Amino acid sequence: MLDRCLSVVAAMALALLVAPATAQPAPGTTEQYRKQAVAELEALRSGPSRPARARNVILFIGDGMGVSTLTAGRILAGQSLGVDGESFETAMDRLEHTALVKTYSHDAQVSDSAPTATAILAGVKTRNSVIGVGPEALENDCASGLANQLPSLLAIAQQAGLATGVVTTTGITHATPAAAYAHTPQRNWESDADMPAEAIEQGCRDIARQLIEGAVGSRLDVTLGGGRSAFLPNTARDPEYADRTGKRKDGRDLIAAWQAANPSGTFVWNAAQLATFNPASETRLLGLFEPSHMQYEADRATDAAGEPSLAEMVELAIARLSRNGQGFVLLVEGGRIDHAHHGGNAYRALTDTVAFDAAIARAIELVDLDQTLIVTTADHSHTLTISGYPDRGNPIFGTVAGGARSAVLARDGKAYTTLGYANGPGAFAPGERPDPAAVDTAAPDYRQQATVPLSGETHGGEDVVVRASGPGAHLFRGTIEQHTIFHVVREALLGSEP
Ligand SMILES: [Zn+2]
Repeated sequence: MLDRCLSVVAAMALALLVAPATAQPAPGTTEQYRKQAVAELEALRSGPSRPARARNVILFIGDGMGVSTLTAGRILAGQSLGVDGESFETAMDRLEHTALVKTYSHDAQVSDSAPTATAILAGVKTRNSVIGVGPEALENDCASGLANQLPSLLAIAQQAGLATGVVTTTGITHATPAAAYAHTPQRNWESDADMPAEAIEQGCRDIARQLIEGAVGSRLDVTLGGGRSAFLPNTARDPEYADRTGKRKDGRDLIAAWQAANPSGTFVWNAAQLATFNPASETRLLGLFEPSHMQYEADRATDAAGEPSLAEMVELAIARLSRNGQGFVLLVEGGRIDHAHHGGNAYRALTDTVAFDAAIARAIELVDLDQTLIVTTADHSHTLTISGYPDRGNPIFGTVAGGARSAVLARDGKAYTTLGYANGPGAFAPGERPDPAAVDTAAPDYRQQATVPLSGETHGGEDVVVRASGPGAHLFRGTIEQHTIFHVVREALLGSEP
């Protein structure tokens, strides 16, 4: 059945991402379901008691990873291993504490990644499109941005002598990673070429420059992601793609500037170079693996120069940051779940979700949960739905099938897929809905159907979840504000706020 919905190669690649220890046979009888629930109840009763203070924190943000994405990703992970997807347990599922999280921003019911990352990393709600500044700052207004900067969790950690790192699959100057080290009234000011002259004259700096020269960015021990073009002049050729250049108009080569400021530091731009980095060297590491975002997990194997997986980057970051005797804070973003959803493409969104979960599984293997707080959350949701009444075990990318696997048809006499979007590029003209039974809905490039036609599918505004294990994780319960996540993490790391 799975062979019908996933190519064998894709299924094998996915299976490698998923921890085999979770492939338990699914219960099927009354007695087995009761035993399953009693075992879970026992685990809930006897949850581990952890110390209150954390030495290290790893904060995982799945960009756009709403609850429907978590559920569909879980089913895909199980089905890729050839086991029951619905009852499968991901690494995230096994974390001990959970809360619902309200994701509205200061000025929007449905937020973008800039204010939500600021909430998680700096502890206050702010306006859509702004990063690392409070709600008093106005979008695109340089002066108010400069006057209302907020210290991030990583800034506070650096002041306390901890090591810090940022790992993402997006460009390193994209909204979520930028919230770790930058302050800007406009998230799109990634290089000087993206900024109005007036803002530059008023003293605002582009995000790439803040990474290299800023108080927090210049002190990061590990920085891994995409986004090289924001660091290179528009006259410089990209090392990987001969036909591409940098974006900067000021003529500055910020990678060279970083190397000059860190003579013993290591800059890498492909997987082979990264593999030679020795974490015991205790030198700084900067890796920029694409001119723009890194590849989706589904496409990573085809990258010309070779890109590391998110799990590989996380493993190396933990090894390097652990050399600091005081502890560390590491931000990890699975950043392209969001991008695939915007394209109405559940295949890449969910395969990136499975890769994100594999990175969390790797981190859990590498750390002691009595010392390290692991937090996983999303910044916001998307409009993905899992709907209809597909049979148990129906392929998650398939069309809805009922008893004896016969297709369930809509009122127009056509099939429909289990996964769909409320809006986006998968919408169709009235009366012209294509029949998904006529195409391969499990193909990597298939776009799920959508209701409202928009060029890009949008974020969703419902609550997301935060899940955590380790010191302080027990405080995540009930329904909380997104910016409370920062304060829980900060307290676990440094004690009560002054
Ligand atoms: Zn988005």
